[in-house]
Amino acid sequence: MDQAVPGWPRLCAKARASVRFLQARVKTLENKVLVTGGAGFIGSHLVEELVRRGRTVRILDNFSTGSRDNLSAVADSSAVDIRVGDAADPEAVRSALAGCDTIFHLAASVGVGTVTDDPLGSLENNIDSVRTLFGLLRSGSPVSRVVYFSSSEVYGKSSTERLEETSPFIIGPADAPRWSYAAAKITGEYLALGSSRQHGVPTTVVRCFNTAGPRQVDTYGMVIPRFFRQALAGEPLTVYGDGSQTRCFSFVGDVVASVLDLAQHPGAVGEVFNVGSDEAVSVLELAHQIRSMTGSRSEISFVPFETAYGPGFEESPHRRPSLSKLRSFTNRNDQTPLEEILSSIHGWLTQRADAGGDATADVAAEAGGTADSACADDSARTADSASTADSDLTDSRTGAPVERAARLGLRTSAGSSPAV
Ligand code: NAD
Repeated sequence: MDQAVPGWPRLCAKARASVRFLQARVKTLENKVLVTGGAGFIGSHLVEELVRRGRTVRILDNFSTGSRDNLSAVADSSAVDIRVGDAADPEAVRSALAGCDTIFHLAASVGVGTVTDDPLGSLENNIDSVRTLFGLLRSGSPVSRVVYFSSSEVYGKSSTERLEETSPFIIGPADAPRWSYAAAKITGEYLALGSSRQHGVPTTVVRCFNTAGPRQVDTYGMVIPRFFRQALAGEPLTVYGDGSQTRCFSFVGDVVASVLDLAQHPGAVGEVFNVGSDEAVSVLELAHQIRSMTGSRSEISFVPFETAYGPGFEESPHRRPSLSKLRSFTNRNDQTPLEEILSSIHGWLTQRADAGGDATADVAAEAGGTADSACADDSARTADSASTADSDLTDSRTGAPVERAARLGLRTSAGSSPAV
């Protein structure tokens, strides 16, 4: 038969390859994706996009900073399995891993409320959860990909014009708790990459820069939600230093899209990628934009770093990623402009305000840490902050009432190529 029909062997081989591809694809789609920290800001957007792409997703979250509200769009879907548990607990993680072939590890203590309140607990949480996960993956059944969420904070004080993945980490001394978050994320990278190189766990590390969008809260000192809260509450927008420090903000949807591209790229195993935007804006310009967008008449007040964070506080004046490596792997050149990012956040806040009472209850319930940091990154600069006040009724620095901000939803207190 093979000889009788010209081209037949080639057709047969092609058909077999197609069948194998379809089988692999079906197998991948049958397998679940595990998202640790899936109830958080970035995690909930990631979960939504995975569900939109037809994947079944399991979330493991201890809801320390995440919320069910973040998952309201997918919580009732049969494609989503929400488990309340600790990512540092081997039994919880072992059980959550069952049937999963792709893992996104986002669970972490992030920012002011958490790191300032408990620097040691945050450090241990951020290291222990990575140790638990990779310890199990090294000895367990093989997975297609693990994506570990690191942070631009690992670059510390480096402020070269464009931070390359190979740029050195320059962090401060261990007696400045501000650097403990960076130290934990660096350790996490070593654990993730070591597991990949020495034990064949197919891992990709993503170093996210400032990520912004709906659902981000100012609990951690994130500068955009804080400025929105202050502007909408008619309070002064507090710019630390002279506001000339610059940051690059990327839209959470862009971050999710890039991470999913990397998770499918066979060449991304064992690699580290900067993920974010490279369009810089000064913190002062950001304050002006938010004030103008909200129609606020709040004044802009300047607070010295020393006043905000105590003596000896160290700030990176500029933090801008080189995105060459990311672009060469993903061909993603478009980035959502800052104005659109701000507008989407403003729209979300307005919606939450219109939704009324429930949002307020949620805010009050979750407004645990209210320390207000100028932090223009996700970082735990926080730990240097003198104030850890946790009243949900007053701003920890200004003492001003925050009921209106709360009503607006601004709590004062992310081998084979899996198809994802
Ligand atoms: P987030 O606080 O909104 O999300 C973290 C989630 O992890 C929360 O839902 C929290 O409840 C959960 N969590 C924490 N510890 C846990 C544990 N031990 N077990 C189970 N769940 C736990 O923060 P995010 O901004 O969405 O950040 C997500 C990831 O991205 C983090 O790893 C963070 O370091 C990284 N990152 C974020 C940014 C940013 O700008 N938001 C920038 C760089 C890196």
